[in-house]
Amino acid sequence: MAHLQTSPFPFAFFENKIVRIEDAKVSIMTNALQYGTGVFGGIRGYYNKEKKFLSLFRLDDHFKRFLQSFKIIGVEIPYDHTQLKKITIDLVKKNNPHTDTYFRPFGYAGSPNLSPNLDRDHMFDYAMYMMPLGDYLPTDKGISVIVSSWRRVSDNTIPSRAKITGSYINSALAKREATLGGHDEAIFLSENGHVAEGSAMNLFIVRDGVLVTPSKSDDILEGITRRTVIQLAKDLKIPAEERVIDRSELYIADEAFFSGTGAQVAWIQRIDNRVVGDGKRGQIAGKLQDLFFEVVRGNVKKYESWCTKIKV
Ligand code: PMP
Repeated sequence: MAHLQTSPFPFAFFENKIVRIEDAKVSIMTNALQYGTGVFGGIRGYYNKEKKFLSLFRLDDHFKRFLQSFKIIGVEIPYDHTQLKKITIDLVKKNNPHTDTYFRPFGYAGSPNLSPNLDRDHMFDYAMYMMPLGDYLPTDKGISVIVSSWRRVSDNTIPSRAKITGSYINSALAKREATLGGHDEAIFLSENGHVAEGSAMNLFIVRDGVLVTPSKSDDILEGITRRTVIQLAKDLKIPAEERVIDRSELYIADEAFFSGTGAQVAWIQRIDNRVVGDGKRGQIAGKLQDLFFEVVRGNVKKYESWCTKIKV
C-alpha cells in the first residue's frame, strides 16, 4: 500500500487494546474517513537524554479539551479522562521512545453507516499513535506568513473551539495557499474580518510592549500553548491582552509569533511581504520562546506540574 505509513514506534492503541501499528487499520467504508466525523488532539513529549524520561506537556489540559470537543459535537466516547491518560502512559512504556515524540489521540465514527450523522449508529472509537517529531515550523529563524484569502470556519459552521477532523480541510486550504506562494504559514481572518489564528496554531503580536492575542470569541482553537504563553507572560510581568485584532495591526506590529503544540513558539519575520518590526527575533518573543523551551522540557521547577514525566 503506497500510503501505508510505517512508524519507528511499533505500537498503537486501537479498538480497545494496544496492537502493532500495521494492524491499526480501518475500512474504506469508515464514516469518519468519508465525512471527517472525528475529533483529535496533539500532545508533545520531550525526551530528556541525561535523566531518561519523556516529559508530556499539559496532558490533563489536552484530554480536558479533547473531551470538551466531543461535548461540543454531542458525542460520547467510551473512555474517561483517567482512562485516556492511562492509555497514553501504557503506550509510552510499550514504545519506549528515546526522542521527542508527538501523540495523536483520535476519536472517530468507525461505523460503515452511510449518512453524515452523529447519532447512536455512529458510535465513536478511540485510537492513539505516536511518532517522532522535531520542529513543525522553524524555531531558530523567522518565518514568512501571508493572510489567507480563506476565512476561518466560524463557530456556527464548524466550531474552531473543537478540534474536529473535518474542519481541517479549512486549514489545509490556507496552508497550501501559503506554501504555493513560497511562505511558511498562513493567518486566517474570521468571517467578520478579525484576525483569528494560523492553520494549526494561535497567533500573538506585540504592540508598544503589550502582548496581544485574538480573543476566544474570534473563531480560534483555545490553544493550550496559547494559555501557557499568556501565563508565562504574566509571570514575566509582560502585559498581555486577549482582544479583537484588525488585519492592519499585523502590518505595524513590533513582533509576531505563533504558538501551538506542533509550532511550539515560532517567531514571524514577514507578514504579507512586510517586515515585522526590525526583522529580528523580538525581545518579548525571544524571552517567551526561551522560557517556553525550558518549561516544556521540565527544567523549570515552578512549572513542573505541567509536565508528566515518564521513565523510558
Ligand atoms: N489552532 C489550531 C487550529 C490548531 O490546530 C492548534 C493545534 N492544536 C492550535 C491552534 C494550537 O493549540 P495547542 O496549543 O493546544 O496545540
